[in-house]
Amino acid sequence: MPEAALSLFPLGGLGEIGMNCLALEQRGEVLLIDCGVTFDDRGLGVDVVHPSFEALEPYRDRIAGVAVTHGHEDHIGALPYLLRRFDVPVYAPPYALGLLGERLREHEILRHAHLHEMRVRQPIRIGSFEVEPIRVTHSIADATALAIRTDAGLVVHSGDFKIDPNPPDGELFDAARFEELGDEGVELLLSDSTNVDSEGSSGSEEIVGEALERIVGGATGAVVVGLFASNVHRLRVLGEVAVATGRKLVLLGRSVQTHSRVAHSTGYLGWPSGLVYPDQRLNELPRNRILAIATGTQAESRAALGRLAREQHPTLKLTTGDTVILSSRVIPGHEPEVSEMMSDLMRLGAEVITRTSDRRVHVSGHAYQDEQVRLLELTRPRSFLPVHGTLRHLQKHAAIARDFGTDARVIENGQKLILRAGLLEDAGRVPSGRVYTFAQRPIDGETLRERAALAETGIVVAFVPVDAAGRLVAPIALTTRGIAAEADPLLESTLAAARGEVTRAIEGLRLIDEPGAAARTAIRRTFFQAFGSKPVCQVMVQVVGGTQ
Ligand SMILES: [Zn+2]
Ligand SMILES: [Zn+2]
Repeated sequence: MPEAALSLFPLGGLGEIGMNCLALEQRGEVLLIDCGVTFDDRGLGVDVVHPSFEALEPYRDRIAGVAVTHGHEDHIGALPYLLRRFDVPVYAPPYALGLLGERLREHEILRHAHLHEMRVRQPIRIGSFEVEPIRVTHSIADATALAIRTDAGLVVHSGDFKIDPNPPDGELFDAARFEELGDEGVELLLSDSTNVDSEGSSGSEEIVGEALERIVGGATGAVVVGLFASNVHRLRVLGEVAVATGRKLVLLGRSVQTHSRVAHSTGYLGWPSGLVYPDQRLNELPRNRILAIATGTQAESRAALGRLAREQHPTLKLTTGDTVILSSRVIPGHEPEVSEMMSDLMRLGAEVITRTSDRRVHVSGHAYQDEQVRLLELTRPRSFLPVHGTLRHLQKHAAIARDFGTDARVIENGQKLILRAGLLEDAGRVPSGRVYTFAQRPIDGETLRERAALAETGIVVAFVPVDAAGRLVAPIALTTRGIAAEADPLLESTLAAARGEVTRAIEGLRLIDEPGAAARTAIRRTFFQAFGSKPVCQVMVQVVGGTQ
């Protein structure tokens, strides 16, 4: 039994869904597993959120590398940010590597990156760790789990997985290899908790293919299928459906084009040439020969589906007789926008088919309970650590593992555990947190708080002209944004009241008092009395003249 110790500390993905990033440490050396992003839906101008890498700073020269399980954004999206700060090699399966290359090119750091391909069942050495990818099925091609040989013994990380008995690319979940590892003795299993609330099994992509072919085959007008562009299995299936139904594929949205290009170049997609029709020439196709693939299933405003719904798409207009299939789930929190988008599509005359009206148009890429238990059965770990989920998901998954007779612990981002002799012990905390970015640059917490305050209350800007003695020399000018319509009588009367209050406040000041602060207090109080909230207030004190 291995007596040496391995530390683990998650920087993302534990206590939340998304932003997966886990550090393993032994002999003072770190191996990262995945490095992903998450998104911020508060409308504050954030495009991606990545983990804080503060905890890695003490290991700056001793990060052996990053092992990537698969190419989803919540597993690779933060790598450009990590690689800008630390010069470390990245090891990934070919498809993930292709997608990562696109990301790194956008960030203009591709040339400096050290990228290495990993192949299933082929162990490679990363520093003092030995890492072997194992094939799993998931909603993206080329997904892997990792078997990691450490000083504390064999650790298996499931990555994101499901057990699809019939994946469209024929790459089967490698149950035999997991079982062999189980025979050898797995000290610790880390496993995907995303769908711990769902009983049974997630179902095969094959079902989706059959459903899509049936619906498209029966359609008389144009068909638009909305999906997550990264789901290469479904892109492949749609190619087959297009061939079988005599339609052309039209790719709407940049991410569908990117994913299909990378999938082609890495051999994961083999659409026959001529099957894809350029969307600029869509008008040349009869309606019943159009099979469009669109992004934007969560009603993201700039994506293709949203544009179609608002009749703002440059090349395709939907009309009566057309069909829209949302081959996706709705991410919790996006329900109102998605339902509004569906209504807009229906108003155009399109028939809208979703998972609610036909369960078979989408299956999840993450294991349901039966599949989670199956992985426990195959690997028979001594200890268990649930990953990828909110605290509730993690605790439920831990309970399932305990029922199975495994020692399970639950930790969240920033908590540290030590694995020794097959058991997990608490080992304190490391710094953890989120970094909000836009256009590749971080946005600090104070700026985000300001944006949130502006959105919530609006702003009043005041110009206060005073002389050197602090006396008002001209009327105060006030202007507002985001508080009320300009013609609103309450706004007019409040502005007048605020001018009066500021004048009185400044007249009562002593020479040492600060006119800006007094004006600000008076304005916010006056607006609070009228509108019930204190707006953001920016006061500019202009010292006019200069003689006394
Ligand atoms: Zn994934
Ligand atoms: Zn994931």
